[in-house]
Amino acid sequence: MKINHTIKFGFNYNTHFYGKHTYANLVEKLSTRDIYSDTKAEEFVELRNIYNNLWKEIGLPENLKPRIQYKAMLSNMAFSIQDYKIYVEKRLSPFKMNLRNKSGKNKSILRHEIEHVKQIWDIVRLVGADNMAEELGTNLKWLNIEVSPSLLKNFQEIEKTLGKILPSSKEYVKAQQYLKALRNYPDTSQYYGISIKELREHIKYKNNLLEKEARNEAAKYKPKWTKTFKIVIKEFIKLIK
Ligand SMILES: [Zn+2]
Repeated sequence: MKINHTIKFGFNYNTHFYGKHTYANLVEKLSTRDIYSDTKAEEFVELRNIYNNLWKEIGLPENLKPRIQYKAMLSNMAFSIQDYKIYVEKRLSPFKMNLRNKSGKNKSILRHEIEHVKQIWDIVRLVGADNMAEELGTNLKWLNIEVSPSLLKNFQEIEKTLGKILPSSKEYVKAQQYLKALRNYPDTSQYYGISIKELREHIKYKNNLLEKEARNEAAKYKPKWTKTFKIVIKEFIKLIK
C-alpha cells in the first residue's frame, strides 16, 4: 500500500517474480523498459476479464464493483477510496502484464485489493454513509479524502445494498476493528529512503489488520512458482519466435 493523495490501498513495495530464483532476474532483463512503456490494450482487456470473473466468483454485488483503470504510480495496484476505483500501475511492460495475467499473479493481487474494498464497505456500513464525511474529516483526516457528491452516492449505495452494521450485527466487532485499523493506518507516503522510523512504519504497515487480512485472501490465489516458471518459458519462446 503506497500512499499519495488519492491512493491509499496497494502494495508498499514492488513485487518481482519471486526475486530469489535466477529466472526472475532473467525476466527482468528480457522485459522491455518499464517506464511508460506501451500499455497494449489486450493485456488490459484480459486483466479486466480476470477481475470481472473474480468478482463474480466471490459473489459480490455487481452494483458496488469499482472500475479498474491504468495509472502511473508506485504500487502494482491500489484501491482509491476517493475515486472508488482500483488503479493498476500502467508503467509495467506488456510482457510482464501478460505474464501476471497468465500465471495468476494478477488474480492474487486483485484479490488483495478487493479485500480492501470489502473492508471499506464494512466501515461505511458501521459509520453510516451520511456520517462518512465527518469521519473522514476528523479521525480519518490523514486519508485526505474529500467527500464529493458522487462519493457520497457510492457510500449510500453501499449502505443501501448491504445494510447498516448495528451493534447486534454479526459483522459489528470486525467492522469496529477495521475502523480502528484504518484510523491507525501508518502513513508511509513521505518516506523514500530507509531509516529506523521508516522501518518501524513499514512493520506497522505489515501488521495492520487491513493488510494482514488482505494478504491472507490474496495468498489463497497466489500461483505456485512452478506454474509461473512454465509460463515465463512459454511466453519467452513466443517472444523470440
Ligand atoms: Zn493492501
